[in-house]
Amino acid sequence: MVTQNKKVVTRFAPSPTGFLHIGGARTALFNWLFAKHHNGKFLLRIEDTDRKRSTQEAIDAIFDGMSWLGLHHDGDVVYQYANRERHVEVAQKLLAEGKAYYCYCSAEELEEMRAKARAEGRPIKYDGRWRDRDPSEAPKGVAPVVRFKAPQTGEQVIHDHVQGKVTVANEQLDDMILLRADGSPTYMLSVVVDDHDMGVTHVIRGDDHLTNAFRQAQLIRALGWDLPEYAHIPLIHGTDGAKLSKRHGALGVDAYRDMGFLPSALKNYLLRLGWAHGDDEIISEAQAIEWFGLEGIGKSPARFDFAKLENLNGYYIREVESNDTLVTLIREPVEKQINRALTEQEIALLVNAMDEFKPRAKTLNDLAESTVFLFASRPLALNDKAKKLLNDAARHMLGKLLPRLEQVENWKVPALENEIKSFAENEELKLGKIAQPLRAALTGSNMSPGIFDVLVWLGKQESLERIKDQAQ
Ligand code: GLU
Repeated sequence: MVTQNKKVVTRFAPSPTGFLHIGGARTALFNWLFAKHHNGKFLLRIEDTDRKRSTQEAIDAIFDGMSWLGLHHDGDVVYQYANRERHVEVAQKLLAEGKAYYCYCSAEELEEMRAKARAEGRPIKYDGRWRDRDPSEAPKGVAPVVRFKAPQTGEQVIHDHVQGKVTVANEQLDDMILLRADGSPTYMLSVVVDDHDMGVTHVIRGDDHLTNAFRQAQLIRALGWDLPEYAHIPLIHGTDGAKLSKRHGALGVDAYRDMGFLPSALKNYLLRLGWAHGDDEIISEAQAIEWFGLEGIGKSPARFDFAKLENLNGYYIREVESNDTLVTLIREPVEKQINRALTEQEIALLVNAMDEFKPRAKTLNDLAESTVFLFASRPLALNDKAKKLLNDAARHMLGKLLPRLEQVENWKVPALENEIKSFAENEELKLGKIAQPLRAALTGSNMSPGIFDVLVWLGKQESLERIKDQAQ
């Protein structure tokens, strides 16, 4: 339990071997929220001890993703590899106290051990053969590893905030390696030492680390340190219940940004992915900080639901306070599509029109895409549905409508509406029979905001030209 006088310190400890995927982002979010809720600290540790697989690119992607999501860490970033001497020092201390020992097993011996265990159907475990052996028996010229002298009786009990009380008998755990033959510290040792040195009080991470927690607990207890509080979160699954893979949306956070998701929406979605506060779905950041607690984390894996994320994103797009902000966000994708910069006038038009566009969009990219027709050059490319709408009869109708529109002097919604409605009456056509082909001609698509608005935004000349392009 969180005591009153102990300041909460959490950490996010990604291994920089790939992008910041959404599972990692959720772990970061939970740690950040927990720290914020308790007015504590949220630290970032880059676990870069795997020198072959760690890359600067991945480190940058982690920084980028976290700052885009607004998950700012406290203090300096801790690089695990930079602490390696300290990790070695702790292993030496355990050696000196008789809590660790040199093991001179050769690769062949270890292989033999594994083969035997397999043949007997036992779990593969180091048999502790150097545990009590005198180092004077050490073979010449063999660089030893340092192993932890793990307790062989008793058990490791962890009161996990998500998993409940979990127990493993010590006899099931073998003497893990602390320092490899080349003297480098292992991951298990580094994590324990860093968490201690960073003053981490709460370890909140994926439940794929639960088995590590027992070994880490053995080590922490041998060192006489306090066990942190643990919360192992069930991993995210896909909608089909299988472990999340790329197919399900296990992409990098950057991919979600590129698809046009807002950080606020992704954060809200990730929060609900494995954590609940009653039936609340839309949760602001301030509410999340106020409400977040480990007791709200679910015990079963949450399912990643892309459609739900999109709906939430649509909501957050509609909630963006100013249309200027929205236009700033979609400017780049719009310009990319039309292959030129927008003019000041066009930007003003977009800001003006935004209220009519945003109710339909689920992503910023959708939103951008839906406005592109305003700036497209003639003749417009037609999508399949627009092509279908523009059949011979429709083109003929547009040919008749054209002179009526040419007469309209005051190119505003009321005058246009009057003219088109009276045209519909004369022709004995329903308004839709006119509006849909007209929309196809003006926008190249079968969907857009109201047709009178579209006419006004495009202006008289451009509207008439676009209609002419399709009329017969
Ligand atoms: N570096 C580990 C990972 O990326 C996390 C270790 C931990 O949280 O203890 O999965």
